[in-house]
Amino acid sequence: MTGVGEAVPSERYNETFDRFIEVLGQITFEDLIDSGSLDTLLDSILPKCQGLRALEAAFDVAAHDLWGKIDGRPLYAHFGADCKKTPLTSYTIGIDNLDVIREKVEEADPYPILKVKLGSEHDQDIIRTIRNTTDKLIRVDANEGWNLDKAQTMCEWLSTKNVEFVEQPLPVQMLDETSELKKRSPLKIIADENCIDSKDIPRIAHAFHGINIKLMKCGGLREAYRMIQLARELNLEIMLGCMIETSVANTAAAHLSPLTDYADLDGHILIENDPYLGVRVEEGKLILPSSPGLGIYLR
Ligand code: MG
Repeated sequence: MTGVGEAVPSERYNETFDRFIEVLGQITFEDLIDSGSLDTLLDSILPKCQGLRALEAAFDVAAHDLWGKIDGRPLYAHFGADCKKTPLTSYTIGIDNLDVIREKVEEADPYPILKVKLGSEHDQDIIRTIRNTTDKLIRVDANEGWNLDKAQTMCEWLSTKNVEFVEQPLPVQMLDETSELKKRSPLKIIADENCIDSKDIPRIAHAFHGINIKLMKCGGLREAYRMIQLARELNLEIMLGCMIETSVANTAAAHLSPLTDYADLDGHILIENDPYLGVRVEEGKLILPSSPGLGIYLR
């Protein structure tokens, strides 16, 4: 039996492909042999990833896939999730010139929710351009691109444009200002870069309405599940997000999605060289595979 995982290095978190190869070269086959349980395997292998979260995520997902296969159960069952309760995923529209944005909105036609990246010089033009084409629900991700004044102005304006929430409006270090924005904004504020793993949640909970969990940020499914439980205890909303990933990591995250409020799991839809088939998306709805483990197979 084989478990499959995926690592997507992120420059935002000082990760590079070369560094991953170097660390992988230091991990031996003996490190991967386990005495008994999924937890003991993860406890022995994750510390050898030298803090590279996306590399941890690869081992974590592969181990979960393998254990699911041994167990004969799909991963959603391992996490006690109801496969019918998957949320709709949004479809991402990146920052671009307005002609390209118009094209991308047309490409996004089958998806009922758009996730629009802002934090540019022409944020309002981007939203106006999209609104000239469609009135479907928009989620905004400002990627740390605003200051408090701009964020307040934008949140007020966006609240009249059928926008559901704004992700990471301010830079990570502006947590006090984000907490102020939360009081002033008519829209919900969701943490992305401010929330890497479960240790961050109690520290930032006062400044946000919810968090965006990504396997590549937190180091895999086990930590993502911890984050879900802690966020629920603190009455935070939960989004599951992704980097540009294949069906491997996106299917892994999708197995947790019934436990969350929002999904932004479109990474595998946005690439043309996905080697695997796994989670499917039908008019935005995530459809989980039901075979054991991740339930992915090679195209
Ligand atoms: Mg984001």
